[in-house]
Amino acid sequence: MSERIAYVKGRFVPESEATVSILDRGFLYGDGVYDASRTFGGQPWHLRAHIDRLYLSCRYARLDPGMDADEMEALTMELIERNRGVYDEGEEFRINHWVTRGGGVSSAATHTHGAHTVVIFTLPMDYTRYAHGYREGVPSVVTGVRRIPPECIEPRAKVGNKMNHVQADFQAAEAGAWPIMLDINGFVAEGSSYNCFFVRDGEILTPTDYNCLVGVTRTHVIDMAKELGIPVRETNLTRYDLLIADEAFHTGNSICILPVSSIDGTPMTHGAPGPVTKRLMDLWASQVGCDWAAKSLAAIEDC
Ligand code: PLP
Repeated sequence: MSERIAYVKGRFVPESEATVSILDRGFLYGDGVYDASRTFGGQPWHLRAHIDRLYLSCRYARLDPGMDADEMEALTMELIERNRGVYDEGEEFRINHWVTRGGGVSSAATHTHGAHTVVIFTLPMDYTRYAHGYREGVPSVVTGVRRIPPECIEPRAKVGNKMNHVQADFQAAEAGAWPIMLDINGFVAEGSSYNCFFVRDGEILTPTDYNCLVGVTRTHVIDMAKELGIPVRETNLTRYDLLIADEAFHTGNSICILPVSSIDGTPMTHGAPGPVTKRLMDLWASQVGCDWAAKSLAAIEDC
């Protein structure tokens, strides 16, 4: 297998030579933004939506990638083409974009242009952590770790400093589960790298975008639900709403739709995947012509 190629600060280089300075503020302080997307059948999925969100994150963080979104998209497609020999035909991979404030210009946090770092790279999908969940769901817990409030860091921006989410992951891992974070007012916010959905009496419920990332997958799931005639409500939810939900699932670019088997030890009454969750999974698979859940399961079973 040939080596993956990455794009780093204006150059396409083999991944083993892709380096960023120790003075880069992204490394030093998490002073950067990023986005992550994936392929279906080896083709990028909703790439432009991810790039558009990256640019919104850049505007919020006052970062200048030094190119517009069209150029970023073209560069990404070029990178994908340069990596074609690396991935098998139809193999899925992840596409990662990072923009950091760079370094070496000044120790001040506030330079808004000049030495900003742009990195784009691809990675193979790693299904090991979650593929089994498509068959039986993943247990989830409401963590004591709360989501950083919008008054501190805007959750709609995808920023580089993930310590809040890492703390939630650690806490959930102690229970062998996936974290669901509340905001500081006790309303459900999101998971550590995914949005959270619940189903009750045939209606899909999900937090508003006040305290969560506007996931590209979240938007897609809401659109699919509308297509299927399933009502969706974006609303404030508390732990009580989760405990009485019939079904639940998490969404994100890697996991797509990941069924939840239990919340705080309480099993979902309609199972995992529940019927509404399954309808969404099936529609998405038919839209992209790829049964991504089966493909993930096959990948871990082959190992
Ligand atoms: N919430 C957080 C905190 C995330 O990091 C992510 C994905 O990376 C998501 C939600 C899901 O977003 P998307 O569906 O665009 O991948």
